[in-house]
Formats: sequence, structure tokens, C-alpha cells
Amino acid sequence: MRNKIVAGNWKMNKLADEAVALASELVNIAKDEVKGDVKVILCPPAIYLTTLQKYIETSPNFALAAQNCSDKASGAFTGEISAAMLQSIGIKYVLVGHSERRQYFAESNELLAAKVNIALENGISPIFCCGESLDQRQNEDYIGFVKNQISESLFHLSAEQLQKVVIAYEPIWAIGTGLTASAEQAQEMHAALRAHLAGKYGSEVADEISILYGGSVTAASADELFASPDIDGGLVGGASLKSREFINIIKAR
Ligand code: PEP
Repeated sequence: MRNKIVAGNWKMNKLADEAVALASELVNIAKDEVKGDVKVILCPPAIYLTTLQKYIETSPNFALAAQNCSDKASGAFTGEISAAMLQSIGIKYVLVGHSERRQYFAESNELLAAKVNIALENGISPIFCCGESLDQRQNEDYIGFVKNQISESLFHLSAEQLQKVVIAYEPIWAIGTGLTASAEQAQEMHAALRAHLAGKYGSEVADEISILYGGSVTAASADELFASPDIDGGLVGGASLKSREFINIIKAR
């Protein structure tokens, strides 16, 4: 059985007191309202990771993720945060390849392969983001494009390593735009990606990989999306900043 996961990507939002308020509200409400084995992963700005640990540690369902890490081990890389540093404070997940990092920081599939490696070497599970632009969806083999992102950044891994990776399919045209992919569109891609993983690693391994959908998920769209057979949860941006909305999304999983 693959893990059900709902992750909240806070991006560059929330001041320190707001971050604490949101995390503690989520943990408190979830205690009463969230049943079952869904894993909730909060991805706050890195500066808050240590502070937030004490707010989430009372709930076994909750974990924290960094939004990024360096592809380098250590050294003269001003402003960067290494995977070893994240490991040293007990962080278990890191987002790798979010489309905003691909777009604004020119992160290539090759660079992302290096980030995946260094995260795994440090015992951290990458949440590997992939997805096509609107232009690619309209004019190109969009499924082939996303499959290629996965081949180039993940297919050097052993099956054992791949099983530690979470994949998040996030069509760029749906991120922060209010345009959610329909459940059919998302399921089509998720099934294609799982088949792609099965082609390389076999279906037993592919069936164990959690593939999340991301792109303007709301409480209203989550039920239908999460009911699709190959959608194992969501990576949520804007709606993860509001406790009630995010809890309702978690409950849909
Ligand atoms: C994201 O940033 O990963 C995301 C899915 O954002 P939003 O939900 O706001 O579209």
C-alpha cells in the first residue's frame, strides 16, 4: 500500500508568529478531525523549520519538508542550505524541482538529479516535482515531456532508492492560477507516469510510489482528484496557507 500524503507548500509566505500560529492550528484541528493514516507534510520557509518542529512533534501524522536544498555537500556557496544540514536538524523530506525553481533559478533535470542524490545520501526523501507548461500541453507530447523529466532526474536511481522518492505532478498552467487539472487530466498523467516507472523498475516498485497532484487544489476539487486510482494525495500551495481549507483538503484524502 502506498502512502497517502497531503503536503502544503507555503512558498515565501508567513512571518514567524504567523508560521507558528498556522502549524499549531493545523496540528490541533487535525487531532480532532483527521482520521486514518494520511501523512501531512508542511513545507515552510527553511528559517522556520527548527521552530516548527516542536509544534508538530506531538502528532505522528505530521512531518516537515524543506522547500529546497543545495546540490553541493558543503563549502563556499553563500546562502545555500545543504541536505546534511537538514538531516542534522531531523528533516525527512525536501521539495526538489518545483516549477518555480526550474523557472526562476534555471534548475535543469541534471541539476535536480544531483539534488535527488544528495538528499537520499542524507536520508531525506525528495518530493520530486514535474509538470508541463500550457504551451507544451497544447503543442507538444506533454506526457512525453513529463516522462522525460522523470527519466533524466530519477532513472539513475536503484529501485531501493526510488522507493524513497515521492513524485508530485504539477502542471505549470495549474499552479497558482486557479485552473485545476480535471480529475481525468490528472489521472491520465499519473497513470502514464506510473506505467513509465513500471517500464523501468517493474510494476511492483511502481505501485509503491506515491504520486501527488499539485496545481490550485482546493477543498472543493480535492475529493474528485483524490478519488482517482493513481492520485495518492496532493501538493498544495495557496490553499495550504489557510488552516480550515487545508484541513478540509487533508480530510478529502
Ligand atoms: C505549488 O506551489 O506547489 C502549488 C501547487 O501551488 P497552488 O496550489 O497555489 O497552485
